[in-house]
Amino acid sequence: MKVLDELDRKTYKNVWTISECTGGAVHPVSYELLGAARKLSRERGCEVWTVALGHGIGGNLESLFACGADKIIAVDDERLRAFNDELECHILERLVKKYRPEIVLCAATSRGRALVPRLAGKIRTGLTADCTGLEIDTENGDLLQTRPAFGGNIMATIRSGEYRPQMATVRPRVMPMPEPEVGRKGEIIRETVRPEDALNVKEILGTIERHEATVNLSDARIIVAGGRAMKGPEGFKLLEAFANRIGGAVGASRAAVDNGWIAYPHQIGQTGATVQTDVYIACGISGQIQHLIGMQSCKTIIAIDIDDTTPMMKLADIAVKGDLFAIIPAVMKELDERA
Ligand SMILES: Cc1cc2nc3c(=O)[nH]c(=O)nc-3n(C[C@H](O)[C@H](O)[C@H](O)COP(=O)(O)OP(=O)(O)OC[C@H]3O[C@@H](n4cnc5c(N)ncnc54)[C@H](O)[C@@H]3O)c2cc1C
Repeated sequence: MKVLDELDRKTYKNVWTISECTGGAVHPVSYELLGAARKLSRERGCEVWTVALGHGIGGNLESLFACGADKIIAVDDERLRAFNDELECHILERLVKKYRPEIVLCAATSRGRALVPRLAGKIRTGLTADCTGLEIDTENGDLLQTRPAFGGNIMATIRSGEYRPQMATVRPRVMPMPEPEVGRKGEIIRETVRPEDALNVKEILGTIERHEATVNLSDARIIVAGGRAMKGPEGFKLLEAFANRIGGAVGASRAAVDNGWIAYPHQIGQTGATVQTDVYIACGISGQIQHLIGMQSCKTIIAIDIDDTTPMMKLADIAVKGDLFAIIPAVMKELDERA
């Protein structure tokens, strides 16, 4: 990697985000990234730019301005209809070299995970994946990138002081969704796909949409999650009935998933989903850091546990001490009586 001196570093400006515009719709995480970028740009005294690559993206640009973009680099091309990591990487490499952003934020979605390590390699800079916190060192513009390390046992703050741009990915629902400012305007910079961008890239012959009947924890407003205390698949049947009763989805700790009591798509935490629901009800989950990372931004956390000293019980807004196999049926009975 090429180490930059202070003078070189000063030629890099502005916070960029990469917006996901597959199929013409913006992935919600793109707005969350803009919210995070806005905060950093205020501290750094610079602008927020976002790069929108796709086909038929014109209708989305307004919402990107509303959520915090000052400038949008829009590349609208038929060849960007389906995600092609090589092609997008070539375009982004060219744009980064041309405009020299100081920071580039991208979503830790399957798309982002395919794209940005490739980009970081091409432009010879560092990348911190799955950040849970982003701050700026106002002295020198270093991005302070916080993420779990060593199996989640510690939180590490990483800086790539001598390299620019500084690149980080953030999982969906880790950063808060910004309040859109309707009517907010900005500048659109139109760029095109150049012939050299499309050289030596794979050709996408077709795409098949996957429609699996699987839980969608990201869209749930209420999650009822069970841990080792559920004791088996039968325990999860109780949680499912409770979740259905209150209009929620069922989540789980890794202990429950590893035991085969419930399928992996339900797992929440460092190696599962990250959720940001209005209500999170943790039933017999002790709240180890690897689990908390995936749900600690939920608005109201309710915990049920026989032990009131666990990290989850301490974190909870409402901590209920007792046996969940007695409490949950009692709550359901009460709901039935009040209905
Ligand atoms: C690299 C790595 C990644 C990991 N990723 C994840 C992850 O993504 N998600 C995740 O969840 N974990 C993850 N883990 C595992 C994590 O460290 C914990 O082991 C796990 O979260 C514990 O699950 P638990 O809280 O269900 O079980 P426990 O820690 O055993 O807690 C069970 C709780 O149930 C309570 N209890 C028991 N009986 C009852 C009852 N009848 N009524 C009420 N309460 C009761 C107990 O008091 C206890 O607090 C990871 C670990 C590593 C090393």
